[in-house]
Amino acid sequence: MIKYCKTCLLPSTKPYIKFDTSGICKACLFHKEKNQIKNSFINWRERKNEFVKLIEKIKKINAPNYDVCVPVSGGKDSISQVSHLLNKQLRILCINIDYGIKTEIGKKNLECISQMGANLLIYRPDLIIHKKIMKIALEKYGDPDLMSHCLLHALPIRIAIQKKIPLVLLGENAAYEYSGSKSYNEKEMSLKWFKHYASNSGITPKKFSRENKIPYRYLKAYDLPSDDELKKTQPVFCSYFFKWSSEKNLIIAKKFGFKPLKKNSEGTYRNYVGIDEKINRIHQYIKLLKFGYGRATDHACEDIRNKKISRTKGILLVKKYDRVKLSNYYINDFLKFIGITRKKFNRILSKYTNYKIWKKNDKKLIIRKNNFN
Ligand SMILES: [Zn+2]
Repeated sequence: MIKYCKTCLLPSTKPYIKFDTSGICKACLFHKEKNQIKNSFINWRERKNEFVKLIEKIKKINAPNYDVCVPVSGGKDSISQVSHLLNKQLRILCINIDYGIKTEIGKKNLECISQMGANLLIYRPDLIIHKKIMKIALEKYGDPDLMSHCLLHALPIRIAIQKKIPLVLLGENAAYEYSGSKSYNEKEMSLKWFKHYASNSGITPKKFSRENKIPYRYLKAYDLPSDDELKKTQPVFCSYFFKWSSEKNLIIAKKFGFKPLKKNSEGTYRNYVGIDEKINRIHQYIKLLKFGYGRATDHACEDIRNKKISRTKGILLVKKYDRVKLSNYYINDFLKFIGITRKKFNRILSKYTNYKIWKKNDKKLIIRKNNFN
Protein backbone atom coordinates (compact mmCIF):
# COMPACT_ATOMS: atom_id res chain seq x y z
CA MET A 1 0.00 0.00 0.00
CA ILE A 2 1.15 3.54 -0.73
CA LYS A 3 2.63 5.43 2.20
CA TYR A 4 1.97 9.15 2.49
CA CYS A 5 4.01 11.93 4.04
CA LYS A 6 2.79 12.65 7.56
CA THR A 7 2.77 16.40 6.92
CA CYS A 8 1.64 16.74 3.29
CA LEU A 9 0.10 14.16 0.95
CA LEU A 10 3.03 13.13 -1.22
CA PRO A 11 3.00 9.37 -1.79
CA SER A 12 5.91 6.95 -1.57
CA THR A 13 5.31 6.20 -5.27
CA LYS A 14 6.58 9.64 -6.34
CA PRO A 15 9.90 9.19 -8.18
CA TYR A 16 12.97 10.25 -6.16
CA ILE A 17 10.94 10.95 -2.99
CA LYS A 18 12.62 10.34 0.35
CA PHE A 19 11.21 10.35 3.88
CA ASP A 20 12.91 10.88 7.23
CA THR A 21 12.52 8.32 10.03
CA SER A 22 9.33 9.97 11.31
CA GLY A 23 7.66 9.69 7.88
CA ILE A 24 7.99 13.31 6.76
CA CYS A 25 9.02 13.89 3.14
CA LYS A 26 12.16 15.80 2.19
CA ALA A 27 10.11 18.42 0.32
CA CYS A 28 8.33 19.32 3.59
CA LEU A 29 11.63 19.35 5.50
CA PHE A 30 13.23 21.65 2.91
CA HIS A 31 10.20 23.94 2.98
CA LYS A 32 10.35 24.18 6.76
CA GLU A 33 14.04 25.04 6.70
CA LYS A 34 13.53 27.57 3.93
CA ASN A 35 10.84 29.40 5.86
CA GLN A 36 12.35 29.44 9.32
CA ILE A 37 13.18 33.02 10.10
CA LYS A 38 15.51 32.19 12.96
CA ASN A 39 18.35 29.79 12.28
CA SER A 40 17.39 29.56 8.63
CA PHE A 41 20.17 28.25 6.45
CA ILE A 42 19.10 30.78 3.85
CA ASN A 43 19.62 34.48 4.29
CA TRP A 44 17.16 35.86 1.73
CA ARG A 45 18.45 39.42 1.96
CA GLU A 46 21.95 38.18 1.19
CA ARG A 47 20.65 36.17 -1.75
CA LYS A 48 18.87 39.23 -3.13
CA ASN A 49 22.12 41.21 -2.87
CA GLU A 50 23.88 38.38 -4.66
CA PHE A 51 21.34 38.76 -7.48
CA VAL A 52 21.91 42.52 -7.69
CA LYS A 53 25.67 41.95 -7.88
CA LEU A 54 25.23 39.26 -10.54
CA ILE A 55 23.16 41.62 -12.69
CA GLU A 56 25.79 44.37 -12.34
CA LYS A 57 28.49 41.91 -13.38
CA ILE A 58 26.43 40.80 -16.41
CA LYS A 59 25.85 44.37 -17.53
CA LYS A 60 29.59 45.08 -17.43
CA ILE A 61 30.21 42.22 -19.88
CA ASN A 62 28.37 44.28 -22.50
CA ALA A 63 27.33 41.21 -24.47
CA PRO A 64 26.85 41.65 -28.23
CA ASN A 65 23.13 40.82 -28.41
CA TYR A 66 21.25 40.41 -25.12
CA ASP A 67 22.20 40.43 -21.45
CA VAL A 68 19.90 37.74 -20.16
CA CYS A 69 17.76 34.95 -21.54
CA VAL A 70 14.58 33.66 -19.87
CA PRO A 71 12.77 30.50 -20.97
CA VAL A 72 9.03 31.29 -20.76
CA SER A 73 5.75 29.45 -21.11
CA GLY A 74 3.56 32.50 -20.59
CA GLY A 75 2.47 31.04 -17.26
CA LYS A 76 2.48 32.98 -13.99
CA ASP A 77 5.94 31.71 -13.00
CA SER A 78 7.69 32.86 -16.16
CA ILE A 79 6.07 36.31 -15.99
CA SER A 80 7.28 36.63 -12.41
CA GLN A 81 10.82 35.53 -13.44
CA VAL A 82 10.94 38.31 -16.06
CA SER A 83 9.62 40.83 -13.51
CA HIS A 84 12.81 40.43 -11.44
CA LEU A 85 14.82 41.74 -14.39
CA LEU A 86 12.80 44.82 -15.23
CA ASN A 87 13.94 48.44 -14.75
CA LYS A 88 17.59 47.43 -14.67
CA GLN A 89 18.52 48.56 -18.20
CA LEU A 90 18.84 44.95 -19.34
CA ARG A 91 18.25 43.58 -22.81
CA ILE A 92 16.10 40.55 -22.10
CA LEU A 93 15.43 37.75 -24.57
CA CYS A 94 12.56 35.46 -23.58
CA ILE A 95 12.27 32.17 -25.41
CA ASN A 96 9.03 30.25 -25.71
CA ILE A 97 9.22 26.71 -27.03
CA ASP A 98 5.87 26.01 -28.65
CA TYR A 99 5.91 22.25 -29.22
CA GLY A 100 2.32 21.29 -28.66
CA ILE A 101 -1.23 22.52 -28.59
CA LYS A 102 -1.53 26.01 -27.17
CA THR A 103 -4.84 27.10 -25.66
CA GLU A 104 -6.43 30.48 -26.46
CA ILE A 105 -5.80 31.77 -22.94
CA GLY A 106 -2.20 30.52 -23.21
CA LYS A 107 -1.63 32.56 -26.38
CA LYS A 108 -3.05 35.68 -24.73
CA ASN A 109 -0.97 35.27 -21.56
CA LEU A 110 2.20 34.85 -23.59
CA GLU A 111 1.55 38.29 -25.08
CA CYS A 112 2.11 39.81 -21.61
CA ILE A 113 5.84 39.08 -22.01
CA SER A 114 6.56 41.48 -24.85
CA GLN A 115 4.31 44.10 -23.25
CA MET A 116 6.34 44.15 -20.05
CA GLY A 117 9.71 45.15 -21.48
CA ALA A 118 11.30 41.99 -22.86
CA ASN A 119 11.87 40.55 -26.35
CA LEU A 120 10.04 37.35 -27.16
CA LEU A 121 11.25 34.62 -29.47
CA ILE A 122 8.80 31.82 -30.25
CA TYR A 123 10.46 28.62 -31.39
CA ARG A 124 8.40 25.93 -33.06
CA PRO A 125 10.33 22.66 -33.48
CA ASP A 126 10.16 20.51 -36.63
CA LEU A 127 6.80 18.92 -35.94
CA ILE A 128 7.39 15.88 -38.14
CA ILE A 129 10.31 14.87 -35.90
CA HIS A 130 8.73 16.16 -32.71
CA LYS A 131 5.45 14.29 -33.18
CA LYS A 132 7.38 11.11 -33.95
CA ILE A 133 9.34 11.57 -30.72
CA MET A 134 6.15 12.32 -28.78
CA LYS A 135 4.45 9.19 -30.11
CA ILE A 136 7.35 6.95 -29.11
CA ALA A 137 7.55 8.70 -25.73
CA LEU A 138 3.87 7.96 -25.13
CA GLU A 139 3.82 4.38 -26.34
CA LYS A 140 7.13 3.18 -24.99
CA TYR A 141 7.60 5.25 -21.82
CA GLY A 142 4.04 6.37 -20.97
CA ASP A 143 4.84 10.08 -21.11
CA PRO A 144 4.21 12.15 -24.25
CA ASP A 145 6.16 15.06 -22.74
CA LEU A 146 9.25 12.99 -21.91
CA MET A 147 11.49 14.67 -24.50
CA SER A 148 9.52 17.94 -24.58
CA HIS A 149 10.68 18.60 -21.01
CA CYS A 150 14.27 18.13 -22.16
CA LEU A 151 13.72 20.52 -25.07
CA LEU A 152 12.23 23.16 -22.78
CA HIS A 153 15.25 23.02 -20.50
CA ALA A 154 18.04 22.56 -23.04
CA LEU A 155 17.20 24.65 -26.07
CA PRO A 156 17.03 28.10 -24.43
CA ILE A 157 20.49 27.41 -22.95
CA ARG A 158 21.80 26.37 -26.36
CA ILE A 159 20.34 29.52 -27.94
CA ALA A 160 21.88 31.64 -25.15
CA ILE A 161 25.30 30.14 -25.93
CA GLN A 162 24.86 30.69 -29.69
CA LYS A 163 23.79 34.30 -29.17
CA LYS A 164 26.52 34.89 -26.57
CA ILE A 165 24.05 35.73 -23.80
CA PRO A 166 25.95 35.53 -20.49
CA LEU A 167 23.02 34.67 -18.17
CA VAL A 168 19.95 32.42 -18.29
CA LEU A 169 17.33 32.92 -15.59
CA LEU A 170 15.47 29.65 -15.02
CA GLY A 171 12.44 29.11 -12.78
CA GLU A 172 12.42 26.93 -9.69
CA ASN A 173 14.97 24.26 -8.82
CA ALA A 174 12.69 21.20 -8.75
CA ALA A 175 15.28 19.12 -6.89
CA TYR A 176 14.99 21.45 -3.89
CA GLU A 177 11.40 22.67 -4.12
CA TYR A 178 9.56 19.40 -4.77
CA SER A 179 11.92 16.64 -3.66
CA GLY A 180 14.02 18.41 -1.04
CA SER A 181 17.12 16.81 -2.52
CA LYS A 182 20.25 18.80 -1.74
CA SER A 183 22.72 16.76 -3.73
CA TYR A 184 22.66 19.26 -6.59
CA ASN A 185 24.01 22.75 -7.01
CA GLU A 186 21.17 24.88 -5.67
CA LYS A 187 22.02 27.92 -7.76
CA GLU A 188 23.03 26.62 -11.18
CA MET A 189 21.74 23.99 -13.54
CA SER A 190 24.24 21.20 -14.17
CA LEU A 191 24.31 18.17 -16.43
CA LYS A 192 23.69 16.00 -13.36
CA TRP A 193 20.53 18.01 -12.54
CA PHE A 194 19.35 17.80 -16.14
CA LYS A 195 19.70 14.01 -16.17
CA HIS A 196 17.41 13.66 -13.17
CA TYR A 197 14.96 16.51 -13.35
CA ALA A 198 14.56 17.33 -17.04
CA SER A 199 14.75 13.80 -18.39
CA ASN A 200 12.26 11.86 -16.31
CA SER A 201 13.11 8.28 -15.34
CA GLY A 202 16.68 8.88 -16.47
CA ILE A 203 15.78 8.72 -20.18
CA THR A 204 18.19 11.30 -21.54
CA PRO A 205 18.04 12.44 -25.19
CA LYS A 206 21.17 10.32 -25.87
CA LYS A 207 19.52 7.24 -24.38
CA PHE A 208 16.28 7.99 -26.24
CA SER A 209 18.22 8.32 -29.49
CA ARG A 210 19.96 4.96 -28.93
CA GLU A 211 16.89 3.07 -27.80
CA ASN A 212 14.73 4.30 -30.66
CA LYS A 213 17.24 4.55 -33.48
CA ILE A 214 16.66 8.26 -34.07
CA PRO A 215 19.99 9.83 -35.07
CA TYR A 216 21.27 11.96 -32.18
CA ARG A 217 21.72 14.99 -34.42
CA TYR A 218 17.92 15.31 -34.46
CA LEU A 219 17.87 15.18 -30.66
CA LYS A 220 20.72 17.57 -30.01
CA ALA A 221 18.37 20.50 -29.43
CA TYR A 222 16.74 18.40 -26.69
CA ASP A 223 20.00 17.87 -24.83
CA LEU A 224 22.21 20.11 -22.71
CA PRO A 225 25.58 20.87 -24.28
CA SER A 226 28.80 19.53 -22.71
CA ASP A 227 30.09 20.96 -19.41
CA ASP A 228 32.69 22.98 -21.31
CA GLU A 229 30.07 24.55 -23.58
CA LEU A 230 27.81 25.22 -20.57
CA LYS A 231 30.53 27.46 -19.13
CA LYS A 232 29.87 29.96 -21.94
CA THR A 233 26.70 31.06 -20.17
CA GLN A 234 25.39 30.85 -16.62
CA PRO A 235 22.02 29.08 -16.13
CA VAL A 236 20.77 30.08 -12.66
CA PHE A 237 17.55 29.25 -10.83
CA CYS A 238 15.30 32.12 -9.81
CA SER A 239 14.26 30.11 -6.72
CA TYR A 240 17.81 30.40 -5.37
CA PHE A 241 17.62 34.20 -5.20
CA PHE A 242 13.94 34.72 -4.40
CA LYS A 243 11.75 32.57 -2.17
CA TRP A 244 9.68 30.56 -4.66
CA SER A 245 5.95 30.73 -4.15
CA SER A 246 3.16 29.96 -6.63
CA GLU A 247 0.81 32.35 -4.88
CA LYS A 248 3.29 35.21 -4.95
CA ASN A 249 4.13 34.55 -8.59
CA LEU A 250 0.43 34.68 -9.41
CA ILE A 251 0.01 38.09 -7.75
CA ILE A 252 3.02 39.46 -9.67
CA ALA A 253 1.87 37.95 -13.00
CA LYS A 254 -1.62 39.43 -12.64
CA LYS A 255 -0.07 42.90 -12.39
CA PHE A 256 1.35 42.34 -15.86
CA GLY A 257 -1.96 41.21 -17.33
CA PHE A 258 -1.89 37.44 -16.71
CA LYS A 259 -5.39 35.98 -16.74
CA PRO A 260 -6.38 32.75 -14.97
CA LEU A 261 -9.27 30.53 -16.10
CA LYS A 262 -12.78 31.33 -14.90
CA LYS A 263 -13.01 27.89 -13.32
CA ASN A 264 -10.51 25.30 -12.08
CA SER A 265 -8.36 23.41 -14.58
CA GLU A 266 -9.20 19.75 -15.00
CA GLY A 267 -7.41 17.54 -12.45
CA THR A 268 -6.89 20.24 -9.83
CA TYR A 269 -8.73 22.92 -7.88
CA ARG A 270 -6.50 25.76 -9.04
CA ASN A 271 -7.47 27.87 -12.04
CA TYR A 272 -4.08 29.29 -12.95
CA VAL A 273 -1.78 26.32 -13.60
CA GLY A 274 -1.32 24.20 -16.69
CA ILE A 275 -3.69 26.42 -18.63
CA ASP A 276 -1.48 27.44 -21.55
CA GLU A 277 -1.05 24.09 -23.25
CA LYS A 278 -3.07 20.88 -23.66
CA ILE A 279 -0.60 17.99 -23.73
CA ASN A 280 0.53 18.55 -20.15
CA ARG A 281 -2.89 17.35 -18.97
CA ILE A 282 -2.29 14.01 -20.74
CA HIS A 283 1.14 13.78 -19.06
CA GLN A 284 -0.44 14.52 -15.66
CA TYR A 285 -3.24 11.99 -16.16
CA ILE A 286 -0.82 9.18 -17.01
CA LYS A 287 1.23 10.19 -13.96
CA LEU A 288 -1.94 9.59 -11.93
CA LEU A 289 -2.41 6.13 -13.46
CA LYS A 290 1.25 5.21 -12.88
CA PHE A 291 1.81 6.61 -9.39
CA GLY A 292 -1.65 7.21 -7.93
CA TYR A 293 -1.35 10.97 -7.54
CA GLY A 294 -2.01 13.94 -9.81
CA ARG A 295 -1.99 17.71 -9.98
CA ALA A 296 -4.45 18.33 -7.14
CA THR A 297 -2.08 16.40 -4.84
CA ASP A 298 0.85 18.60 -5.91
CA HIS A 299 -1.16 21.73 -5.23
CA ALA A 300 -2.68 20.52 -1.97
CA CYS A 301 0.83 19.61 -0.72
CA GLU A 302 2.04 23.13 -1.49
CA ASP A 303 -0.97 24.70 0.24
CA ILE A 304 -0.57 22.43 3.28
CA ARG A 305 3.10 23.39 3.60
CA ASN A 306 2.21 27.05 3.33
CA LYS A 307 -0.46 26.49 6.02
CA LYS A 308 -3.17 27.74 3.66
CA ILE A 309 -5.20 24.56 4.19
CA SER A 310 -5.18 21.71 6.70
CA ARG A 311 -4.12 18.21 5.75
CA THR A 312 -7.75 17.08 6.21
CA LYS A 313 -8.94 19.72 3.77
CA GLY A 314 -6.13 18.63 1.41
CA ILE A 315 -7.44 15.05 1.47
CA LEU A 316 -10.93 16.28 0.52
CA LEU A 317 -9.51 18.31 -2.38
CA VAL A 318 -7.45 15.36 -3.62
CA LYS A 319 -10.49 13.06 -3.49
CA LYS A 320 -12.60 15.59 -5.38
CA TYR A 321 -10.19 16.79 -8.08
CA ASP A 322 -7.16 14.51 -8.47
CA ARG A 323 -8.92 11.52 -9.99
CA VAL A 324 -11.18 13.29 -12.45
CA LYS A 325 -11.32 11.43 -15.75
CA LEU A 326 -9.43 12.79 -18.71
CA SER A 327 -11.95 14.65 -20.87
CA ASN A 328 -12.41 14.78 -24.64
CA TYR A 329 -11.40 18.45 -24.61
CA TYR A 330 -7.83 17.22 -24.17
CA ILE A 331 -8.01 13.77 -25.76
CA ASN A 332 -9.47 14.75 -29.15
CA ASP A 333 -6.90 17.43 -29.98
CA PHE A 334 -4.07 15.29 -28.70
CA LEU A 335 -5.02 12.25 -30.79
CA LYS A 336 -5.35 14.42 -33.87
CA PHE A 337 -2.00 16.06 -33.13
CA ILE A 338 0.04 12.88 -32.84
CA GLY A 339 -2.10 10.78 -35.17
CA ILE A 340 -3.23 7.74 -33.19
CA THR A 341 -6.67 6.20 -32.73
CA ARG A 342 -8.78 6.34 -29.61
CA LYS A 343 -8.59 2.57 -29.32
CA LYS A 344 -4.81 2.63 -29.35
CA PHE A 345 -4.76 5.47 -26.83
CA ASN A 346 -7.01 3.51 -24.46
CA ARG A 347 -4.70 0.50 -24.77
CA ILE A 348 -1.74 2.72 -23.83
CA LEU A 349 -3.60 4.14 -20.81
CA SER A 350 -4.39 0.63 -19.66
CA LYS A 351 -0.77 -0.48 -20.17
CA TYR A 352 0.47 2.28 -17.85
CA THR A 353 -2.18 1.86 -15.17
CA ASN A 354 -0.62 0.44 -12.03
CA TYR A 355 -3.17 -2.16 -10.91
CA LYS A 356 -1.49 -2.41 -7.52
CA ILE A 357 -2.85 1.10 -6.98
CA TRP A 358 -6.05 0.95 -9.04
CA LYS A 359 -8.81 -1.58 -9.50
CA LYS A 360 -11.52 -1.79 -12.13
CA ASN A 361 -15.09 -1.68 -10.95
CA ASP A 362 -17.77 -1.75 -13.62
CA LYS A 363 -15.29 -0.37 -16.18
CA LYS A 364 -14.53 2.51 -13.80
CA LEU A 365 -11.10 2.92 -12.26
CA ILE A 366 -11.17 3.09 -8.49
CA ILE A 367 -8.20 3.64 -6.24
CA ARG A 368 -7.52 0.77 -3.86
CA LYS A 369 -7.63 1.25 -0.10
CA ASN A 370 -6.16 4.67 0.43
CA ASN A 371 -6.20 5.92 3.96
CA PHE A 372 -3.64 8.72 3.79
CA ASN A 373 -2.09 7.59 7.09
ZN1 LIG B 1 5.56 16.12 2.84
